[in-house]
Amino acid sequence: MQQTTTPIIGIISPCYNEEQVLNETAKQLNGVIEGLIAKNIISHQSFIAFVDDGSNDNTWKLIEENSNRYTPVKGLKLAGNVGHQKALLAGLLTFKDEASALISIDADLQDDVSVIEEMIVKHKAGTDVLYAVRKERTTDSGFKRNTALIFYNLMKKMKVNIVHNHADYRLCSSRVLNALAEFDEVNLFLRGIIPSIGFSNDVVYYNRLERFAGESKYPFKKMLSFAWNGITSFSNYPLKLVTIIGFAVFFICLLMSGYALIAMFTGQVVPGWLSTVLPMYFLGGVQLFCFGIIGEYIGKIYLEVKKRPRYFIDKRVD
Ligand code: UDP
Ligand code: MG
Repeated sequence: MQQTTTPIIGIISPCYNEEQVLNETAKQLNGVIEGLIAKNIISHQSFIAFVDDGSNDNTWKLIEENSNRYTPVKGLKLAGNVGHQKALLAGLLTFKDEASALISIDADLQDDVSVIEEMIVKHKAGTDVLYAVRKERTTDSGFKRNTALIFYNLMKKMKVNIVHNHADYRLCSSRVLNALAEFDEVNLFLRGIIPSIGFSNDVVYYNRLERFAGESKYPFKKMLSFAWNGITSFSNYPLKLVTIIGFAVFFICLLMSGYALIAMFTGQVVPGWLSTVLPMYFLGGVQLFCFGIIGEYIGKIYLEVKKRPRYFIDKRVD
């Protein structure tokens, strides 16, 4: 839908113990919003909402202060720390009915705020989802770069549809957010869910900067669990793998059984050998094969219990 009026745009930023960056982030985001209002690109009702994800430092106090300082700044305080993905979801669902589109951005100023204007311009031209994609990863450590690459390749192999080098910096129109609200799952992996919703989308490119201050809240352990969650909540490929391995092993075991029988009849073995080895091969193969079949059914159950919405209607003509 092409928009002629100036849309209300909301920026959602989850914060966990971000007292070192919050004042600067509020200042910069406020600058962006005021600039876009002045250029008559967005409505003067546009806002910035900081979601305090159960921080145990002064984050909330700073959010309150900044909301007094700058008109567009709002705050949402969660009861406890629920993690980045859920905190972001809380922000998106709370504010989705108050804006024409919401932009999610990390609070640490690693995402270049200057592409916000490009996102909004493309959104106004009718695009529902705009993924901000990193041009290069020079500011990351070699370790983070490589693990990220492994992650993207693995996800691709498992047929999970994610946008390469896109984190959670994106614009979603309100109808995409309404669709998002229909996902009931607890294991949230927004980078997989948003592309699975559909609607028109495009990318904008930016350079990822260094963290403005403070430390990463994603240590290796959290990164690993995030990647694992991404795979297991989108793909039953690992279960399928059991069936494939099971079938292969079963086949090999049949061949081995044949060999054991021949060895027995050509008289090259000690007594009792066949009766030990044959059931071992055979049962091993049967067992893994059966595991695989059970896995197939568990895979189906897994897909069903998620009760994900099956489709979203983009538009219609009358
Ligand atoms: N964050 C959050 N809850 C958490 C951990 C992180 O809301 O439990 C926020 C954090 O404040 C930041 C964003 O999620 O705005 C991304 O975290 P971080 O910058 O530490 O991750 P990295 O950029 O190192 O991957
Ligand atoms: Mg960061």
